[in-house]
Formats: sequence, C-alpha cells, structure tokens
Amino acid sequence: MAYEQITSHLKNIVGRSNVLTSDEDCNVYSYDGTSNWIHKPDLVVFPTETRHVEAVLKLANEHRIPVTPRGGGTNVSGGSVPIRGGIALVMTRMNKILSIDGANLSARAQAGVVLMDLQVALAQKKLFFPPDPQSFFGATLGGVINENSGGPVCLKYGVTKQYMLGLQAVLPTGRIVEFGGSTVKNVVGYDLVSLLTGSEGTLAVVTEAVLRLLPMPPSRKTIVALFDDLPKSGATVGRILDQGTVPAKIELLDNWVVKSINRIAKMGLPEDAAAMLMFECDGTDEVVAHDSRQVIEICRKEGAVHIIEARDQAEAQLYWKARSAGFAAIFGAAHTVLSEDVCVPRTRMAEFIERVVAICRRAGLEVTVIGHAGDGNLHPSVMTDARDPAHYQKAQRAVEEIIEAAVEFGGVLSGEHGIGLEKQKFMRRTQDPIFIELMKKIKGIFDPNGILNPGKIWEDRSC
Ligand SMILES: Cc1cc2nc3c(=O)[nH]c(=O)nc-3n(C[C@H](O)[C@H](O)[C@H](O)COP(=O)(O)OP(=O)(O)OC[C@H]3O[C@@H](n4cnc5c(N)ncnc54)[C@H](O)[C@@H]3O)c2cc1C
Repeated sequence: MAYEQITSHLKNIVGRSNVLTSDEDCNVYSYDGTSNWIHKPDLVVFPTETRHVEAVLKLANEHRIPVTPRGGGTNVSGGSVPIRGGIALVMTRMNKILSIDGANLSARAQAGVVLMDLQVALAQKKLFFPPDPQSFFGATLGGVINENSGGPVCLKYGVTKQYMLGLQAVLPTGRIVEFGGSTVKNVVGYDLVSLLTGSEGTLAVVTEAVLRLLPMPPSRKTIVALFDDLPKSGATVGRILDQGTVPAKIELLDNWVVKSINRIAKMGLPEDAAAMLMFECDGTDEVVAHDSRQVIEICRKEGAVHIIEARDQAEAQLYWKARSAGFAAIFGAAHTVLSEDVCVPRTRMAEFIERVVAICRRAGLEVTVIGHAGDGNLHPSVMTDARDPAHYQKAQRAVEEIIEAAVEFGGVLSGEHGIGLEKQKFMRRTQDPIFIELMKKIKGIFDPNGILNPGKIWEDRSC
C-alpha cells in the first residue's frame, strides 16, 4: 500500500490531529536522550485509546511497517530511535491515572503518564511508587516499564520489575492482552509481566499498567560526604551495607560532575574534593536517626574529609536537584559522550573505578564517573567527538576495555539503561549464544513479522 494510503488509514484510526508527517515533525522523533543515533520515522502517530494501538498494529503488521513505540524519548541506549523508519508510535497522549487504590496499595495508569505526575498524585495520598530514574520529569510509565528502570532509591526498594502487578498490552499482531492481575500474589503460569518489563518495546506495546505501591516513608534525611579519593568513596559503600544499614539512596558524583553541575546550575556544591557521596536515609524518625548516625560514623572512619547534614527538606532538595542535573551536565559536555551503564559487585567498585581511570588516563581521554553507588551501578562517561574519527575510535576502544573490566569483575554491561542500539555489539561477546537464541525465539512468538522496534537488543547486520 502506498505511503499516502497508509497515512490516510492512520488518520482514520486516530484522527487527523494525531498523525504527523512533515519532515520537521519527524525529526523531533528521530533520536533519544543522547542524540548519538539519529533516524527519522516516516510518520508519527499518537494513539489516545488502546483500541487505536490495536488498529495501528493490525495495519502495520498486515503491511510489514516497522513500528517503534516511544514515551518521552529520554532513554539513553537508542531504544526509541526508529532505526528502520516506519511509524513512531508515541504514547504520551494516553496519560491518564485511572485509579489509585490505597486499601490494596495499587494503582492503574495509562502508559503515557509522566512518572513525575504519577509520583505527585501518589504523594498526595501518602503513597509511593519507588522507581525513580533521574529523568522522572519527562520519562513515561511505559518507557520506565520497558527499560525496567531503576534510580537512586532502588538500593533499598528495588527496580520497576518489583512493582509490576499487571499490564495491558497490545501484541504486534494487534491483539489486546491483559497480563498478570492486581493482586500481590499471582503464580498463574509463566510470569509474562516480568518478561515484558525490560523488553525495550520489542515484544508488545504497553497501554496500561497495574502497579504495586508502598506507603510513603514518613521521614527522611540527606547526608553528603566528601572524599579526597574516588576509589575510597566506592569502598565506603560496601562498609556501610556490611554494617546492616541500608539507606534509601547512595549516589556517587566525581569532582568533574560536581564542577559541571555548579557551572550549569549554580548550585554552589563544594568543589574541593575528588568525590561526593550523597545519602538519603528514610523510614520512621527512629530508623532515620539510627541509619544517619551509622552512615556518618562509617564515612568518618573511611576518611571522609567533610560531612554535611541537610538541615531540612528544602536543603536536601537542592542536593537531589543537583544530582538529577548530573546526567544533563555530562551529555552537554562534549560533542559525543559515550556513557556506560555497567553494574559491578559493590565490593569491587573501588577497584573498578581505579581501572576506569587508568584506562582513560592511558588513552589520554577525559572521563567522569557518576552513578548509583549503592547498587554498584556506575556510568563512566568518556568525552569524545564522533566527527574526529581517530579520537572517536580511541574512545570506543576505551569503552570496550571498561565493559570488559566490568565483566571481569563479575558485573554486567547494563544495569538500567538497556541494550537498545548502544550495547548490541557487546551482547555476543559477553552472553551465552543460547541466551540470545532464546530471546530471538521469544521475539518470534510475540512478533512473527518482526515489525515491533526492529534492529534492537541483538546485533542486526541489516540495520
Ligand atoms: C537525564 C537522564 C537521567 C536518567 N536517569 C536514569 C536513572 O537514574 N535510572 C534509569 O534506570 N534510567 C535513567 N535514564 C534512562 C531511562 O531509561 C529513561 O529515561 C526512561 O526509562 C525512558 O522513559 P521514556 O518514557 O522516555 O521512554 P523512551 O525513551 O521513549 O523509550 C524507552 C524504551 O521503551 C520503549 N517504550 C516506550 N514506551 C513504550 C510502551 N508504551 N510500550 C512498549 N514500549 C515502549 C521504547 O521503544 C524504548 O525501547 C535517564 C535518562 C536521562 C536522559
């Protein structure tokens, strides 16, 4: 069927104002949170109801048109880049919170709701959906589910997968399915809710989700500890956890990130130390007081040069705002930033950081380290410029060495950002081929014609 006919069908399905076709409009949906990969869709479609998604997918499947689901487009692994063109299926106009059920500690929401809007609505009822990727102001629930996102509080509360009760999703063939349910216990057959969570938009389009909630912790306290040595800050994390204290958050920012945040956001963070650890302890007043005391004592013992206790939530918010600006500071710092997402055992974090610094120093490359230190999930980010092939190749080689080091230390190549396009070439090197073959078979069952987010996760030489 000709492009014009497909466009006209799509306009009939979702309404004229929900289809964009101009070059300028398609450009907007051609990249993700990094702009490291750019590929335009042929057209952009905004469903406003599940039955729209059903009809769009039926049409696309029948005519073998690639469909790339998209939320806020904030992922950083190329997941929402329509590498084969076709339809960018943007879910942001399906953004209703359908119910919040305090008695059952659950909520149902459409996939396009922005995470921050959901968090605010829940907070008004003293409820809490923990996953807190630092893109919460733009990331949608569907994107967070499909990346199985984590964030600072995942140290204590776990990642998105742990908060999924049920999903409404549309298969690439255009069949609406309800997966899971709304109860906290459910062992009816294979756990397909978990399979879809983290599937990077390759198996089905999520239209609604049923989420498990927690009561909002009544009290919290922020502590900032400065270290004159980056690996020393990494080692401190293990010592704290080993004492049986699990703060809600332990985040690591190196001196480069701190200075960059000060430059762009005028935060006035202390700049005279090599590394900064940020902690949040939460719970009842007694738990917060106990955990904070432990954190401060261990930081002192491990050689922190300065410790700041936020006096109130307003001061605490300043620190956490600075932390969430960290990634923006990194991505704005060079023409091309190769930002990794490795996760290593916490006990080997200090050693790993030393290795990263050594790899980049040897290659004469600028590198910065930020991350969810409590989880061992670090984002070493190498500054380069894809327009300078010699420099870019050197940076790519350094990234390969960083990933090899993470695997050598017992870690994985992605803790939370997913494989997307970015890490495909490392999949074969680091994973058992059977694992990749099984995934491809699963993909074939869900999407026999390979129309949904093609070219992602495993290396596909045709893209
Ligand atoms: C500044 C910044 C900070 C970040 N911090 C963190 C962090 O702390 N922790 C963390 O885990 N991640 C972090 N991320 C990355 C995180 O993965 C994304 O921000 C978020 O999960 C993506 O949500 P989104 O709505 O923007 O999805 P998109 O980027 O639009 O899409 C992400 C993936 O999900 C798929 N998808 C989207 N919606 C649907 C749907 N309804 N159905 C099926 N597939 C869908 C897409 O095809 C794509 O593969 C950060 C990113 C940025 C830019």
